[in-house]
Amino acid sequence: MTTGPTTPASRPLLGCIADDFTGATDLANNLVRAGMRVVQCIGIPRQEIDNADAVVIALKSRTIPAAEAVAQSVAALDWLRSAGCGQFYFKVCSTFDSTDQGNIGPVAEALLARLGASFCCVTPAFPENGRTVFKGHLFVGDVLLSDSGMRDHPLTPMRDPNLVRVMQAQSRGGVALIPHEVVRRGSEAIAVRMRELEAAGARFGVVDAIADADLLAMGRALRGAPLVVAGSGVAIGLPQNHGIAPSAQASALPAPRGARAVLSGSCSQATNQQVREFIQAGLPAFAIDPLRIAAGDDVVAQALAWADARLGDRPLLVYSSAAAEDVKAVQQQLGVEAAGSMVEGVLAAIGRGLVERGAGQLVVAGGETSGAVVQALGVEQMRIGPQIDPGVPWCHAWSPVCGDAIHIALKSGNFGAPDFFIKAFALLAA
Ligand code: ADP
Repeated sequence: MTTGPTTPASRPLLGCIADDFTGATDLANNLVRAGMRVVQCIGIPRQEIDNADAVVIALKSRTIPAAEAVAQSVAALDWLRSAGCGQFYFKVCSTFDSTDQGNIGPVAEALLARLGASFCCVTPAFPENGRTVFKGHLFVGDVLLSDSGMRDHPLTPMRDPNLVRVMQAQSRGGVALIPHEVVRRGSEAIAVRMRELEAAGARFGVVDAIADADLLAMGRALRGAPLVVAGSGVAIGLPQNHGIAPSAQASALPAPRGARAVLSGSCSQATNQQVREFIQAGLPAFAIDPLRIAAGDDVVAQALAWADARLGDRPLLVYSSAAAEDVKAVQQQLGVEAAGSMVEGVLAAIGRGLVERGAGQLVVAGGETSGAVVQALGVEQMRIGPQIDPGVPWCHAWSPVCGDAIHIALKSGNFGAPDFFIKAFALLAA
């Protein structure tokens, strides 16, 4: 049983429901950059949230059966409404990952129905990250969605770049386009078109956006709209409606404490480079060999014994990151899933051990790895702080493992500059 906050003071304005964890962080990060104080929750919160302008609830509903996604999203909406939010944001993937069965259409329609509303705008556009929508067609960098790598995604292959058609295939209500010739005329023109479409019985308006100015105009047009369905881009245009402007206070976190550590389970090129830079800087690093885990070695105990002697002034790194050919060799021996979950489990247990030993500043590399570590630390919600590199903020989270709050940065594989592991701690110390 969950209960919503009852204190009228500092109630959040914007309630967000994200269909996956890293998408939630991406959205939260954009809201913070636009001046909002944001708390991100893993699943529906069990306690009140204070001093936040926006609350982002991260679900894992992108590819689960549509009925389950609807049930979870509506429950999240109910919690956010009880917390006092007056506007809602359903955050979907910037490549609009979905199928004819959903889950974007069914969830959006269920949220509209729950809110007693009949129309909302839809756009995954985020020009800064190479996602633009023109004449309803989604571009990923310079190519149409259907010519991008998403064409062959194992769960949600995206073979039609026309979002009006894609959305229509998974919705009961009508889908129309708010084209760029309207968007470029500004917020009033967009708002007028929204009202016209709603009056004509449309349920969704796919909005073209090819530049930040389009998103800012769209944001102003959304003042008073109950719901928006979008990638993280639209977030830059919403805080202005509440008189909120970018500020350093939005991302302010308490001073860091405790030892610094990096856990890296991502094997992406960017992360492998970050591991190399950390080692080349002469900082202590411990490599995890998945074959030793499979052979029964107590790798967790070995890593923690190594760390015991080193946790202190300098950051340390524990990593399983490896070159593609080494990963393939391990996967051939152990199986892809078995290798993955084995390594995730070990890194999560090491993360827990490090926090028990006083680590208070933790960087985790890898999307799945981050999920495993956050779970092992018992983290349920995080206040979003300053951005280290695009899409990756420092967060502040209470962990029952140490009975205190820690600083944690969760980096998905390909994000971050080569010196990410070093600059992250420098940013926090500044
Ligand atoms: P990314 O964000 O780069 O995709 P993830 O953490 O999501 O990173 O995924 C990396 C996966 O690879 C995890 O399941 C992790 O446990 C696994 N893994 C990490 N190191 C190795 C390795 N050396 N060999 C095989 N699998 C590995």
